[in-house]
Amino acid sequence: MSERNVEIAVIGAGIVGIACAYYLAKGRPSSRIVVIDPRAPMSLTSAASGENYRNWWPHPVMMAFTDYSIDLLEEISREYDDRIHMSRRGYALATREAKPDQLLKELQTGYGEGARRIRVHGAASSSTYIPPVSANWRDAPEGVDVLQSRALIRHHFPTFDQEVSTILHIRRAGDISGQQLGSLMLEQIRAAGGSLASARVKEIVKQHDGFVVTARGPDGEEKIRAGIVVNAAGPYIADIARMLGETLPVENIFHQKIAFIDNLGAVDRRMPFSIDLDGQAIDWTDPERQLIAEDPATAWLARQMPGGIHCRPEGGDLGKWIKLGWAYNRTPSEPRDDLPTDPNFPDIVLRGASRLNPRLKQYYGRLPRQITHYGGYYTMTKENWPLIGPMKTKHAYVAGAMSGFGTMAACATGALCAGWVLGKRLPEFAESLSLWRYDDEILLRRLRESASTGVL
Ligand SMILES: Cc1cc2nc3c(=O)[nH]c(=O)nc-3n(C[C@H](O)[C@H](O)[C@H](O)COP(=O)(O)OP(=O)(O)OC[C@H]3O[C@@H](n4cnc5c(N)ncnc54)[C@H](O)[C@@H]3O)c2cc1C
Repeated sequence: MSERNVEIAVIGAGIVGIACAYYLAKGRPSSRIVVIDPRAPMSLTSAASGENYRNWWPHPVMMAFTDYSIDLLEEISREYDDRIHMSRRGYALATREAKPDQLLKELQTGYGEGARRIRVHGAASSSTYIPPVSANWRDAPEGVDVLQSRALIRHHFPTFDQEVSTILHIRRAGDISGQQLGSLMLEQIRAAGGSLASARVKEIVKQHDGFVVTARGPDGEEKIRAGIVVNAAGPYIADIARMLGETLPVENIFHQKIAFIDNLGAVDRRMPFSIDLDGQAIDWTDPERQLIAEDPATAWLARQMPGGIHCRPEGGDLGKWIKLGWAYNRTPSEPRDDLPTDPNFPDIVLRGASRLNPRLKQYYGRLPRQITHYGGYYTMTKENWPLIGPMKTKHAYVAGAMSGFGTMAACATGALCAGWVLGKRLPEFAESLSLWRYDDEILLRRLRESASTGVL
């Protein structure tokens, strides 16, 4: 059995583990860091990400957290000549409600002191709304535009469902290449002397000055002695915690996406990431609906479905791909390596997305053969906030529960985790995002009572 000594062992080479190692290497350049994972880096949940980012959240803590992460992404975009392909056409959240009071209240709460950045546009003629012409993040405005005139909406979003009465256009939002972000961070980790170990962690034994981590790889077992352990195992963070005798308040919920070439030009290449906030009954024909409703396994698809279905162009203005997703599953499950993708999902998501984007109906029954259908687990706490910071075991840290926001939040997560490990000054919100928040009953009660957790 081989052995090695390191200062820090990061378990998991998804975007979160890699970002932790990157900011640890930046914060203490001489430290010996190993990132342990049996899989190729970025190949599990991180490979399924839609790679979208936003600073829209129903709570100011999550907004401050993602704003911090977007600051760091912009820094990386500047430093590496936009290798991460950061775009910023925003998120267009559409509803047929003319006065979505709850939504607007959440917007005010989320933006807190930044609420003055919320611009409401009524009549089309006098509007100062700036449409998302450029994809360059440097050109995009701040804040949020609330479009409440049907004429204005029709003018700027002519392909949307004509019944849409309000659009919230979140301007600090867009997409990045998460894979490029991961690979440039890995290059920097290696340049700073860090390494990757291709092995699965099987056991962690606590010793007075650190840990002995037993990991199994292609060449057999290895013992890695580490002063500090960072648990960034994505859907398996609770398993790693159990090796330390701890439980984490997380569950895994499987979600899917599809991508295909939009040969019929149904989606405008300059469309922001568009989200239909309204629930809906899927657009089946009457005979289809009857068949679906009769089978107990599919009957749920004939009932009212939740909102949050989304669609966006992928691959830039000259690309042809589009991506569709719908996080409607609410049932937790044990994570498995053979992902439980549902062969009906492409048809379900296509019909759902066609409500906001009726031009997608052209693909009913004729989705291109070259379609990518993939999925992964949202590893979540009940309140949909992440877990970043010390575990109960001394010198052990967790960076996980990244739900549907791990790509956008990776940089802030890595920087916060490195801050905790290296004893640096942390932003005010850091404690609320750590396990310490479970000692704050008032905060927890408030979070559990709030109408929305910001899941998309
Ligand atoms: C369908 C879908 C769409 C999404 N869209 C977005 C989006 O648009 N924007 C966004 O910001 N986020 C999005 N997300 C969320 C984002 O993808 C995740 O939050 C993020 O990838 C989590 O990264 P991670 O590193 O924690 O986990 P992972 O990428 O799963 O990495 C964890 C790693 O730990 C390793 N591991 C596990 N157990 C062990 C062990 N015992 N020993 C060693 N290694 C171990 C695994 O092999 C894996 O490589 C989406 C997620 C899904 C599923």
